[in-house]
Amino acid sequence: MEIMKCKKCGFILNTRPNFKSIDGVCMPCLNNEKKKIIDFESRQKWLTQYVAENINSNSKWDCVVGVSGGKDSTAIVKRLIENHGVKNPLLINVTDEFTHSEAGMYNLKNLALYYNLDTITFRCEPKSFIKNTRKDFFETLHPLKWIEQQLYEVPLEIAKKFGINLVFYGENSDFEYGGASELGIFHPASDEKTKLIFLGAIYPYSNYDSLKVAKEIGWKTLGDCNEWYRQGSIDDFAQIDSIGYMVHHWCKFIKFGFQRVSDMASRFVREGYLSKEQAEELIKEKDYIIDPKAKSDFCKILNISEREFNETVDKFANNDLLIKDKNGNWRRKDLY
Ligand SMILES: [Zn+2]
Repeated sequence: MEIMKCKKCGFILNTRPNFKSIDGVCMPCLNNEKKKIIDFESRQKWLTQYVAENINSNSKWDCVVGVSGGKDSTAIVKRLIENHGVKNPLLINVTDEFTHSEAGMYNLKNLALYYNLDTITFRCEPKSFIKNTRKDFFETLHPLKWIEQQLYEVPLEIAKKFGINLVFYGENSDFEYGGASELGIFHPASDEKTKLIFLGAIYPYSNYDSLKVAKEIGWKTLGDCNEWYRQGSIDDFAQIDSIGYMVHHWCKFIKFGFQRVSDMASRFVREGYLSKEQAEELIKEKDYIIDPKAKSDFCKILNISEREFNETVDKFANNDLLIKDKNGNWRRKDLY
């Protein structure tokens, strides 16, 4: 199989079904150009007014924000409070069963303490988490499908229960990852009463932008906490809260030949922090690696033996794309 790569960011173009590109440029790169002509300042003015008009004054809380302890949710809360007149957001933290990082737990507490906010921690039924995550791992090698659905649904459900009209999410991932061509403000699940708003459509979403904003109120990276130097990753600030979660991203490598390093490196090219050549070098060097701590946490929590894990991975390995090296690691043929 001949690998095609985006001319702008170096991202692999032709291994995932439904991933679109035009003349050798991936949709995320094309969408990134569109961001440059969107009038975000007027969207920000609009939001302040929209919030004022749509808060349910009979509810104790102005809005709901799903928070993981990550930089994005921290930046959302900070901007809503400091720039858009939100006074009392309800934070909802939906947790999985994996081990949580010190940095993630610190950041979650820090956010609530900094603005003195209420947090609901929602622990999804542990047995359902384990049962569904195992099933999705063994049957489709897409292990966190179930919890990702909960991360999205639970804040919405709680908002409706408490009569809260506004629910905020971060990036519009359909647009950022190229599935949609317009940067819509409202999530399509919005209805007459409850509006789901992407703050990534009000401020141009970027990892470094969220990081900068979150750090202004004391948000910490894994490196700041000297905690965990992740392998198969090129950053210490994205999705840092749950240790086993990284395996979910790595599973994409087995099916499509790319995972988190490719995702992040191509984004950093778009955000101007890496050249395409630097990104390609990092992808070659690190994208195939599974973080051992993440793998061990994943297997321990889901009660999967190392052997079962490896056998399942081998069953799904894309033999057109990948080859096993002498240490038993799957590698991309074109980069090995
Ligand atoms: Zn691209």
